Amino acid sequence: MRSLLLRLLRSHWSLLIPIPFWGVVTSFLLYFNQQTLDEAAHEMARLRGEAVFQLVQTMRHWNAEHGGVYAPVTLSTPINPYLEAEEKVIQSPSGRTLTLLNPAYMTRQLAERLQGSDLEIHLTSLKLLNPGNTADPWEAQALELFQQTGQREFVSIDESQFRYMAAMRIEPNCLPCHQAQGYQLGDLRGGLSVSFPKHYVLDLAARLQHDSVVIHLIAFLALSLGGCFSLYGFRQLILGLDSEKQQREGIIDLRTAELREEVAQRKASQEKLHYLAHHDELTGASNRRWFFEKLHKYVERHACESDEFGLLMLDIDYFKRINDTYGHEAGDRVLIWFVSCVESLLRYDDLLGRVGGEEFMVLLPQSDKETALDIAERIRAGVAANPVAFESLKIPVSISIGVAVAAVKGVSTAELVRQADKALYQAKQSGRNRAVLARTDQ
Ligand code: GH3
Ligand code: MG
Ligand code: MG
Repeated sequence: MRSLLLRLLRSHWSLLIPIPFWGVVTSFLLYFNQQTLDEAAHEMARLRGEAVFQLVQTMRHWNAEHGGVYAPVTLSTPINPYLEAEEKVIQSPSGRTLTLLNPAYMTRQLAERLQGSDLEIHLTSLKLLNPGNTADPWEAQALELFQQTGQREFVSIDESQFRYMAAMRIEPNCLPCHQAQGYQLGDLRGGLSVSFPKHYVLDLAARLQHDSVVIHLIAFLALSLGGCFSLYGFRQLILGLDSEKQQREGIIDLRTAELREEVAQRKASQEKLHYLAHHDELTGASNRRWFFEKLHKYVERHACESDEFGLLMLDIDYFKRINDTYGHEAGDRVLIWFVSCVESLLRYDDLLGRVGGEEFMVLLPQSDKETALDIAERIRAGVAANPVAFESLKIPVSISIGVAVAAVKGVSTAELVRQADKALYQAKQSGRNRAVLARTDQ
């Protein structure tokens, strides 16, 4: 998860993430805001219709309260043929003819004056006295709705107009005139429609929606920009912390590697020291101390076990002469060659040690006299048969070997060495280049 976040942050494209994010958020908000503004504009238009309706109703109530009002009869205010009233037409003291205007007539008068303006009203009824008040299809639909559902008002926008219609029900002051038509209190008598051009609604909505788009666009740009900058800062912080951590880890790794190398070096030098402490530097054979240590341990074990084992003491014949004749370096080469030659002739568990300048010993575990003598002879013959190559020379080498075998339980190291040494002396005495088995009776 952490590495995924880091990979994402390392990419420069990640800095642009706030743009689609805020794009989607502000689009949603804009969409809902537009809906709300649309509804608000419609509500304002409805309130306008309702206000006009309330005004007309108030005027009608005022008229009804006075039992109608009188106005001079003129061309535009003729005598109402649909009104049946006792003093429908009267004469003023000055002789003017006055006619009674009831609420319906007064409303129609108003409607006629408003006709063609930006605000029109129309009074219509279910039981018409004046055919001029017939409902148009939209009004008829609204009346039908009022009748069926008891709804109080109906609103819609047609091709050019916003239309509002409110139900008119029989109230106490309506009864004197309308009781004769069979109406009762609360009955739906008709409705008053109010119309005005729809651009009143749409212009307002469009204006508000335009402002809303601009505000949302500004908000989108500000939030996206802010988001990108914040993300950049966050990215720098995280990558900085990460690189610090990597540096720390790098230093620790480096120190661990250095430590490992140091440990390896120490181990190697310890191994080297151990090797040097136990081996002869020139030939690589076990040195005297190490050989005698092992020999001693072996002899101690032999004190408890009954296995026979052999000890060979080897001495290169006339080695001084080799040094004198071919040089010390040739002598060294002979010693090196001698060790590798002997080791190649020994068994896996046999141990060769350099115990003096050109003197060597071989421990032969689990070997009786025959085996020990056999190995000694094999070594002698092998050495004698292979002159040592030095520069263009072939240096003949021979050795004398004293062979001792620990056949008796409890024989000491010193005793065994003494026997081998004595046998070697005999080998030298009897002409060199030979292996002599120590006599145990001496
Ligand atoms: P022998 O047959 O009686 O053993 O005669 P030898 O000459 O081998 O015996 P001697 O003890 O007189 O000589 C041994 C010589 O080995 C003397 C010494 O200089 C030489 N020597 C000892 N260690 C080394 C070495 O590491 N390198 C070389 N080149 N010579 C060595
Ligand atoms: Mg010697
Ligand atoms: Mg010698």
